[in-house]
Amino acid sequence: MFATFTAPSFGAVHAHRTGKNGAILPCRPRRDHPICEHGRPEGCGARHDRDDPQVGQPLCASCYDYRGAVLRNAHAGEPWRRFTQALLAALARLLGIRRTHLRAALRLSYAKVAEYQTRGLVHFHAVIRLDGPDGPTAPPPGWATVPLLDEAIRHAAA
Ligand SMILES: [Zn+2]
Ligand SMILES: [Zn+2]
Repeated sequence: MFATFTAPSFGAVHAHRTGKNGAILPCRPRRDHPICEHGRPEGCGARHDRDDPQVGQPLCASCYDYRGAVLRNAHAGEPWRRFTQALLAALARLLGIRRTHLRAALRLSYAKVAEYQTRGLVHFHAVIRLDGPDGPTAPPPGWATVPLLDEAIRHAAA
């Protein structure tokens, strides 16, 4: 499986958005034109090009949770570590078997790449692989299917 793990939102940022036909869409259109507690608009009707320097910047720097965003980046490895633990547990739970039995029957391996999004947060692209107990030279058991792995990844990531 190839999966992308995106950080949560720490506040609204300007975005380059495109429609199905490739046309650039308004950034964050809001019909009711709300204003934040700092007197700045919570919406943005501009159509930002991909290289517009505003893209990825908060709509309001005072509303944006910079502390949360910085801490998230600094500790990005920890949710990943917990994910890999949770994935084995999720697989075992979905199959109704013990983790020790699962470990004896297959091997999970990962390759991940960290990438900065325009908003400055790190996200991960990961290849998650199921093999037999001896690694890549051994086929996984027949019941270790891609749909099962997909479901387990979603559970563990949540
Ligand atoms: Zn905008
Ligand atoms: Zn604000």
